[in-house]
Amino acid sequence: MPDTALPAADMLPADADADAAAPGAVDPADARYMGLALAEARKAWHEGEVPVGAVVVKDGEVIATGYNQPIGRHDPTAHAEIMALRAAADKLGNYRLPGCELYVTLEPCAMCSGAMMHARLARVVYAAGDPKTGVCGSVLDLFALEALNHHTKVDGGVLAEEAAAMLRGFFAERRAARRPPAAAPDAGTGAAALASALTAGVEGSGA
Ligand SMILES: [Zn+2]
Repeated sequence: MPDTALPAADMLPADADADAAAPGAVDPADARYMGLALAEARKAWHEGEVPVGAVVVKDGEVIATGYNQPIGRHDPTAHAEIMALRAAADKLGNYRLPGCELYVTLEPCAMCSGAMMHARLARVVYAAGDPKTGVCGSVLDLFALEALNHHTKVDGGVLAEEAAAMLRGFFAERRAARRPPAAAPDAGTGAAALASALTAGVEGSGA
């Protein structure tokens, strides 16, 4: 009878609940590494780039980081994931990265997903979905194509709200900066306050 199972489930300790594969449950290690990726994303923001950050983890250790910088580098391939993959491959002295996990704050594009497959990455974890260029299920799902993907597992939605808030704050700040001078004081104050609040919120959750 279900009656006998329900009380037992209710008595599970809180951490057992967290370990269970309940929808929406986030692994604490995943949240920690994504917090580090969000810190990388803030570096991009400070350089005027769309705030996306990534870290590569192997055996529980962060071996490489990267953030979005195509404008500053005059390089269309300088996405956060590519920067992190390059640094990880250089560190390991291997063009393949078996056993490595990549955490990125935005759903990867086709270019970055292709690079991950070439690297034979074990797993990619992303935060916010990207309805414009994401290929982990948004525009299409490259990783679901068995002919292309033999190695890489995908998990999405880890700290998605924090990552999305950072992106919204960045674009709000940029829009405010582009407004005519007459509208600048109010808009600037509002955007600065929003950005400040977002940064504080993200820092709090990433700790
Ligand atoms: Zn990309």
